[in-house]
Parts: sequence; structure tokens; C-alpha cells
Amino acid sequence: MGNYTKTEIAEFSTKLKLELSLRMTTAEYMLWVNPIKPVGYDGNRFIFVTPTENAASTLFANYTDMFLAAAKDLHIDVNEFFFISEKDLEKNAPPAEIEKAVEKQESRQNSFIAKYTFENFVVGGNNRMVFVTAHTVAENPGLNDGLLSLNPFYIYGGVGLGKTHLLHAIGNYLFEHKPSMNVIYVSADKLSNEYFASLNKYNTDKDAYRNFRNKYANADVLMVDDVQFLQKKGGLQEVFFHIFNDLYQAGKQIILSSDRPPKEINDLEDRLRTRFSWGITTDIGMPEYETRINIIKKKLEGSSSHLNEDVVCYLAEKINTNIRELEGALLKVVMYTQLTHKEATLDVAKEALKVQAQGFSEQIDSDKIINFVSEYFHVPSSDIIGKKRTKEIVEARMIAVYLICELLNLPLVTIGQIFGGRDHTTIIYSRDKIATDLGSDKELRKKVDDIKNGLKCR
Ligand code: ADP
Ligand code: MG
Repeated sequence: MGNYTKTEIAEFSTKLKLELSLRMTTAEYMLWVNPIKPVGYDGNRFIFVTPTENAASTLFANYTDMFLAAAKDLHIDVNEFFFISEKDLEKNAPPAEIEKAVEKQESRQNSFIAKYTFENFVVGGNNRMVFVTAHTVAENPGLNDGLLSLNPFYIYGGVGLGKTHLLHAIGNYLFEHKPSMNVIYVSADKLSNEYFASLNKYNTDKDAYRNFRNKYANADVLMVDDVQFLQKKGGLQEVFFHIFNDLYQAGKQIILSSDRPPKEINDLEDRLRTRFSWGITTDIGMPEYETRINIIKKKLEGSSSHLNEDVVCYLAEKINTNIRELEGALLKVVMYTQLTHKEATLDVAKEALKVQAQGFSEQIDSDKIINFVSEYFHVPSSDIIGKKRTKEIVEARMIAVYLICELLNLPLVTIGQIFGGRDHTTIIYSRDKIATDLGSDKELRKKVDDIKNGLKCR
């Protein structure tokens, strides 16, 4: 393809991979980038073959930007990256097949996370109700036949139990089945940032606020993730109330998620609280053991790794907090076996989890974490533990809290004291907020990973 020899293409690929390994966590690199091989490059498109279809769609949906940025820094001329699974590549003779796969990918490009689909969501006792409802809503958005109202659809449950996954599943489903619908997904936090940004711009751009409102008022389906973050945001609640009413009256579907039921969201206007409970409210809990096993198996379908049955059972039994942690542990084991070239036996899995847990702990303490975060964000460490509330400082502070909670085994009250005598509920809030946002915010994930990796070198 193009004017490049195979050797040149291989060289570009090696350079790219090296550069990418510096930009992502080792786990991500080992899981997604390490196994891919270049199959074509013509100075415009760079095409890689991946071991599975899931890897191809994950890379395409979540890593294309990073690939482009890496290529740019290396002065490799590329406008597009494409990923095609081995199976797809074998089906027909390239390059026609490559072109076809590329086209398929182009047309599938949408703003929802590709792997968060209904098919990839494992159903068990804890989440059957919420799954079935989500599916029904996706099939009949805005349904209200007088008897049954699924509007709004309100999902609640703890961190890492699949709320964001389900919202994206609805989005992906609608993207495929009702492509003409204007489906908008936004986290309450982002909604809030956009709202305040539009107000700040008012002096220079009178339309900013109207554009903000219209964007959401024009939705056919509006999904707002983590609505607990509307707490204490009076002005925004007011605006959201009107958007909600307009959409509701027009028969548009509203979908909300939160870590708690409407009645437990403090500092939320009553009229919003009431509206949140108008339709159907379902909760999502921690899946039982059998479901956890199925989840692990499902997650492994996407990678080229295999784990023995006893390792799968061990993980499912040991990690009973939430699915994000289960995924984290699974990734650690997979990565460890790949890096050490060991077979994934039960002992090796235990070793992997132990090594990872201790990865930092010996020399790391809260001062080191705060100082590193301070350097990373260029804000003084006194501000991180202080009271200032500018955007940068608040972000740095919350990340520092999150990392201290995650990496050090300290009581919450002690962490509160480290941060200038803050209440432990404030610590919980910051910790959970970052944990939640990590699920949907790529930039944040990158920052947190950078800091973690940096800390490992200290
Ligand atoms: P939440 O929004 O509730 O905090 P997420 O939707 O971000 O949680 O889920 C965390 C991770 O766990 C995601 O990677 C998601 O795919 C996975 N997950 C959660 N529940 C399931 C499930 N039932 N089946 C498959 N994966 C799940
Ligand atoms: Mg979420």
C-alpha cells in the first residue's frame, strides 16, 4: 500500500508503539496496543490488525486521538487510524476487505463508548430489572401509554456497578436502531461546567447561554449521568427544571442516573426531586458470585488472555465491592502474566494482586502524593490542603484525596485531618466523585494514571 515498504511501515509502527507506551498505563498498553500489527500505511491511513473485534472497536473508539497525537509528535503523516480484527482480515482478500472494514468503522463512529453495549452487559439477579427496563426504554423512548410510564427512567446504585455502562448501551442501541434521533448523554458535572461557562461568556457572547439551553432542549433522548452532582447548584437546577419540563411535555425520553434514590439527594429542589420519581426508578446492586464469574468471562472475551477456572473463581470471590474493582483486579492479573510470561495459575494470580497492592506502598505517604500532585498541576501544596476553590485547585485536591484513599490504608478521619481538618464526608465525596468520573472521563483517567506512574518512580 502506498509508497512505503513493509520495513518502513514496521519501523513506523514500532516507533508509534513506543511513544504510545509512554502515554498510557502499562495495563492499557499490554492489553490493547502491544498485540496489534501494522497491515497498511499510505501516508494518510494507518491500519492495524488486532486479535479480536472487541480490541478493534475499543482502540478505534477510545484511543484514536492518542494515536493521532503520538503520530503527530513523531512527525509521521497520518490522518486516520483504523483497526481491523484478524478474523475480518482473513474473511476476504485484502485490501478490499480492509476498505470494507474501514467503512464499517467510519459509519459506526458515534459518541458512545463502543464496548458499553447491552450485549456486553452481564445480567444477574441484582440487575435484571434495571437491564430489562433499560432495554425497554431503548426500544420505546418516551413511552407513556397512561398505564406504564418509563419517563423519566431513573437508575441508582453505588460506584462501579454499571450505571454509565447502561446509559451508553441505550445510546449505542439508539444509534444503531433509530439513527435519526438526537440522543444526548452528559454527566451532571459536565452539564454544570457548560452552564457556568455559558454564563461567564455572557458579556462577550450573548448567545452562549441560549445555545447551551437549546442544545439540551432539542434532545429526543436526554441522559444525565450522576445527577447527585446537581446538588447545591441552584441556578442550574432551575434551568434543568425547565429543560426537563419542556422535554417531558414533548414526550421526549429523559434518563437519569445517580448513586442514590431521588429522596436522598440533599439540596435538590423539591419540584425536581418529585419529577425525578415520576416515571420508573430502579436500583442496581452488586452482582452475586455467579454473575461476577460471568462478568469476568465476558471481559476476557475481548482480550487474547486465558485464565484458569480457579483463577476466575478466586477473583469473583475475592472482589465483592464493585465491578470496576473486579475489572481492575482482572487487568492486574492479565498484565502481570503477560509481563512475566508466567501461566495464569492461582498462585500467580495471588502474586499479581499482592505485587500490585504493594506496588507503591513502601515508600509512599500522603506528603509525597500531595507534593507530586502539586508539581503535576503547578499549584502549591498548601493550596491543595487549603480552602481555595478555583477550578484547578479543586481538581488537584480531589485527585490527591482520591489517590490517598486508594493507595494508602488510612482511616477517612485521618485523611480529613491531612486536608486541613475536613470532615470525612467531604473526603468520601471527593473520592467517589473521582472514582465515578474515571469511568467516563478519558482526560481525567490520563491525569490520574500519569500521577500514579510518576509516583511509582519516586
Ligand atoms: P457506574 O457508572 O455505576 O459507576 P460503570 O458503568 O462505569 O459504573 O461500570 C464500571 C465498570 O464495570 C465498567 O467497565 C462496566 O463495563 C463494568 N460493569 C458493571 N456492571 C457490569 C455488568 N453487569 N456486566 C458487564 N460489565 C459491567
Ligand atoms: Mg458512572
